Amino acid sequence: MPDLPLGDLLELDRRHVWHPYGPMPGRQEPLVVESASGVRLRLADGSGELIDGMSSWWSAIHGYNHPVLNEAVRGQLGRMSHVMFGGLTHEPAVALAKRLVDISPEGLEHVFLTDSGSVSVEVAVKMCLQHWRSLGRPEKRRMLTWRGGYHGDTWQPMSVCDPKGGMHELWQGALPVQVFADAPPAAYEEAYADHLRELIERHAGELAAVIVEPVVQGAGGMRFHSPAYLRVLREACDAHDVLLVFDEIATGFGRTGALFAADHAGVTPDVMCVGKAMTGGYLTMAATLCTSRVADGISRGEVPVLAHGPTFMGNPLAAAVAGASIDLLLGQDWPTEVKRIETGLREGLAEAEALPGVREVRVLGAIGVVQLEHPVDMEAATRAAVREGVWLRPFRDLIYTMPPFITGDDDVAQVARAVCAAAREG
Ligand code: PMP
Repeated sequence: MPDLPLGDLLELDRRHVWHPYGPMPGRQEPLVVESASGVRLRLADGSGELIDGMSSWWSAIHGYNHPVLNEAVRGQLGRMSHVMFGGLTHEPAVALAKRLVDISPEGLEHVFLTDSGSVSVEVAVKMCLQHWRSLGRPEKRRMLTWRGGYHGDTWQPMSVCDPKGGMHELWQGALPVQVFADAPPAAYEEAYADHLRELIERHAGELAAVIVEPVVQGAGGMRFHSPAYLRVLREACDAHDVLLVFDEIATGFGRTGALFAADHAGVTPDVMCVGKAMTGGYLTMAATLCTSRVADGISRGEVPVLAHGPTFMGNPLAAAVAGASIDLLLGQDWPTEVKRIETGLREGLAEAEALPGVREVRVLGAIGVVQLEHPVDMEAATRAAVREGVWLRPFRDLIYTMPPFITGDDDVAQVARAVCAAAREG
């Protein structure tokens, strides 16, 4: 039990605590989690446990309270919890950078460690603009992205999120103005590829880079698209002197069935953002990787440094657990585990296809999505999932899951049943 009586804790939460995308404090009734272990969250109200069908927003791929990850934090804690990264360095950060370079698409060689996914996108945009500025082309300062995307909640990332009906519509007019292509269709269509080529060519003079979520557009709509579009982007960007950024913050570290979604297409971006699952969800850390071409461009400028340096950059605890999480992932047959979850979700979610009000069911890797024909009743859908013993976070017209990779077959079936129940009642 928490030290505070549950009623007091909830009252204080209501009065003082702002939750993600929450209304003003005082109008939400969150569930209180007492502890988390394996794939389960234990609730403080004594009602039992919930399987985390969300992996704490894509991050807890190894589940909770994992002995190897616990030990990585504990071991590092005894040595050094944090030191500034300016002018100092340390083994956990260097070892993590080396691991990231080794497993990322060939050619990404330089690693900037950030403290969140949004900041890693900020840094990516900054790198691209500064690259062109340093090469005497400051007019190349806009980003091209496709609609339906989501890249984070800070300023530059918000500007490349879908501006229509998306989470950041409120800020249109205040945000930097970017160039938008239509959202990519699921299957490859030459006409859409031409649309991308045409837009990149038309705007090349003012474009610093194209930024996209490869293969899966996450929080902007949980849509999947053909990896072939990534090759189209690579070719068009190369042809017109535009950099290419992949935001792999949600897709990275195996979630789609490839280590990085870029690997489905065999494409190396100029800049790549990773986060979320990088630390196994233990601590907040993300990273922006870039090629030598991008880094060299920046170093040749009038200001030859990337002017970004968060206080908690390279945090040794986060770096240590990220290294351990990557080793844990690579040390097991993770493609088979992700495939197993994919098969379980496919089987379990098939039932949803016949439900009234369901527009589409889609599964890719360890991601399952049920899209409704109407906006979901978030409360009713969440309640239905909780009744089935599963934590989900439906939004817009979507009920979706991305469970931890350690979720057993019976638990995957339970998650799928909960998604179906949420689709029925939401
Ligand atoms: N990009 C993508 C694709 C994401 O899914 C997210 C998080 N939902 C972000 C960026 C932002 O990451 P963070 O929440 O760690 O700032």
